[in-house]
Amino acid sequence: MARVLVHACCGPCSITTMQTLLREGHEVTGLFFNPNIHPLREYLARRQGMVDVAHRLGVKVIYFDREYDPQAWMREIAFREANRCFHCYRIRLERAVSVARRGGFDMVTSTLLYSRKQQHERIAALGSDLCGDGRLRFLYRDFREGWQQGIETSKAWGIYRQQYCGCLYSETERYARELKNAGAQVPQQTAGTPCCAEGTEKQAEQADATPAADNAGR
Ligand code: SF4
Repeated sequence: MARVLVHACCGPCSITTMQTLLREGHEVTGLFFNPNIHPLREYLARRQGMVDVAHRLGVKVIYFDREYDPQAWMREIAFREANRCFHCYRIRLERAVSVARRGGFDMVTSTLLYSRKQQHERIAALGSDLCGDGRLRFLYRDFREGWQQGIETSKAWGIYRQQYCGCLYSETERYARELKNAGAQVPQQTAGTPCCAEGTEKQAEQADATPAADNAGR
């Protein structure tokens, strides 16, 4: 049995990921370190989703709330917006690797490997590079295979499901259509990852065909 530290981005993405590792017989510990989630109320909602999933699975999770620093995250991203997701992965995985080394874990991985909306190969390569040839190994699995099961379980358990990836850039991209529907000119979008929440694409299509007022408060 290996001790595995799982960087966890949110509750829904943690379900299949952690269940898979638990089934394989690993000792799983989560690490909730996500300064990319904006604004704070959204962070709190996702954090609660993580708490709920951890309780269901009986998994211990370390919450790095003291390192929730959106300003520091934005300074890291500034002027690198076109490649912002890579740096966002890097910031979170670097911290996870550092915590795993200090904690004497055997392996480290991330729930980012569960999402079909994230840049899977880049995350896998980055995790592997960060671990290098040392004792700590990056645990790669294609957790996307359990995508649908994770969605269904999160809904059955009533876990908070986000509507955009996390940062304000992704929130703007998610709701840009509503600005368009309001008759405004939509600014050119910054390149990045679309929201990883299931149903978002469908909702975005609906938003195109729906008056802006009907979409308020989503
Ligand atoms: S879109 Fe998601 S992965 Fe990309 S920078 Fe924003 S929060 Fe990070």
